[in-house]
Amino acid sequence: MLKNKHSLPVLIIGQGLAGTILAHTLDQAGVPFYLVDAPKTFFTSSYAAGGIFNPVTGRKLEKSWLVDELFSYLFPFYTALEKTLSSSFFHPMPLFRPYANEEMKSWLLERKEGIDNEYLRWTDEGVWVEKAGWLDVDSLLRCSKSYFQTKNIYQEIAIHPATDLKISGDVVSFQKQTYACVIFCEGYHAQQNNPFFGHLNFLPAKGELMKISSLEPSQEYILNKNGFLLPLGNHEFKVGATYRWDDFSNQPSISAQLDLRNKLKSLGLNSYEEIEMSTGVRPATQDRRPLVGFHPHLPLAIFNGFGSKGVSLSPYFAHQWLAEWKAEGQINSEASIRRFYHLFST
Ligand SMILES: Cc1cc2nc3c(=O)[nH]c(=O)nc-3n(C[C@H](O)[C@H](O)[C@H](O)COP(=O)(O)OP(=O)(O)OC[C@H]3O[C@@H](n4cnc5c(N)ncnc54)[C@H](O)[C@@H]3O)c2cc1C
Repeated sequence: MLKNKHSLPVLIIGQGLAGTILAHTLDQAGVPFYLVDAPKTFFTSSYAAGGIFNPVTGRKLEKSWLVDELFSYLFPFYTALEKTLSSSFFHPMPLFRPYANEEMKSWLLERKEGIDNEYLRWTDEGVWVEKAGWLDVDSLLRCSKSYFQTKNIYQEIAIHPATDLKISGDVVSFQKQTYACVIFCEGYHAQQNNPFFGHLNFLPAKGELMKISSLEPSQEYILNKNGFLLPLGNHEFKVGATYRWDDFSNQPSISAQLDLRNKLKSLGLNSYEEIEMSTGVRPATQDRRPLVGFHPHLPLAIFNGFGSKGVSLSPYFAHQWLAEWKAEGQINSEASIRRFYHLFST
C-alpha cells in the first residue's frame, strides 16, 4: 500500500467546495491527483452557499466546535490560496448580532460572565463577532476549475462507482489509469449514488438564499438576526438561509421565497429589489460531524458531511485527511469515519 501511495495518483470525485479544497491541499503537498466532476448530472450545492464563516453559534453565543483549531488554519489557508489562484475571494468582515428584544438582551447580559468572550465585543445594541467573514465560493470554484484544467488534471464526467471503478487489491482503475485511492467528494449525492459510503449517517438539508439589491443596509458587516444579510458589494446582498428536510430538488420554492421575505422584514429592510434565488442541499449528518477518512477494506476514501459549515471545516480536515494518508497523523475521532467501521461488512 505505501509503495502505491507514493507512486500512483489519487482520483478525486466531485469539484464542489469539499473536492476543491482537498485538491488544493494535495496540490500544495505535491501529491499527484486527477479530478472529475459532473455538475450537469449532479448539481453542485456549493454554488448556493452564502460562504459565511462565524466562530460563534446559537443563541447562547457559544464557540463553534473546534473553532480555535479551525480558525487558526482557515485564515492562512484561504489567504495563500488567493495568491496561488491570483484571485480575490476571501473576505473577513465583522458580524453583528443585534439583541432580538429587551428580554433577550437581559437574558444574554445575565450570562455574559459565563460566556467565552474571545471573539465577542458587547455593545448596547447587540454583540459584534470578530474573525467572521465570507468566502466567495462561486468565484473560488470557477477559478479553481480553470487552474486544474490548465494543469490537465480535470475532466467533466459522471462516474458510476459500482461499474466504472475496477478495484483490484489495493489499487483502483478508471479509464486505463491506475489510482492509489479514489476519494469521494460528492456532497449530498453520495447518499443516493455511492454504494461504498451511502449508508453512512447523512441527513441532507435543502437550503435557499435570495440575492437582493438595496440602498438601505450597511455594506460593512454581516447582519445576523434570525437569518443573515451578507453584503456582496455594489449594494447587493444575500439573505438566507432556509432549511428543509423533505425536498431535495434543486428547484427554488415559493415557500422559501416567502420565508426569506419574512426574514428581510424582521431584519428591518423595507425597500429592496429581488434579483435571484439559489438552491442547494447541504451534506449534513445526524451527529453534525463530518465524514472524513478511509474505507476499512478497500482503497477508497471519503471527504464529505460538512453540512452548513463547509467553508470553515474543509481546509482543516483536508489537512488531517492528508496527514492520515501519509501515515503522519490521525483524523479527529469525532470526524473520522472510524466511528462507523462497525457498519462495513468484511
Ligand atoms: C443555501 C445554502 C447556504 C449555505 N451557506 C453556507 C455558509 O454560509 N457557510 C458555509 O460554510 N457553508 C454553507 N453552506 C454549506 C456548503 O455549501 C456545503 O458545506 C458545501 O458546499 C458542500 O460541498 P460539497 O463539495 O460537499 O458538495 P457539492 O457542492 O454538492 O459538490 C459535490 C460535487 O460532486 C459532483 N459529483 C457528485 N457525484 C458525482 C459523480 N458520481 N461523478 C462525478 N461528479 C460527481 C457534483 O457534480 C458536485 O459538483 C450552505 C449550503 C446551502 C445549500
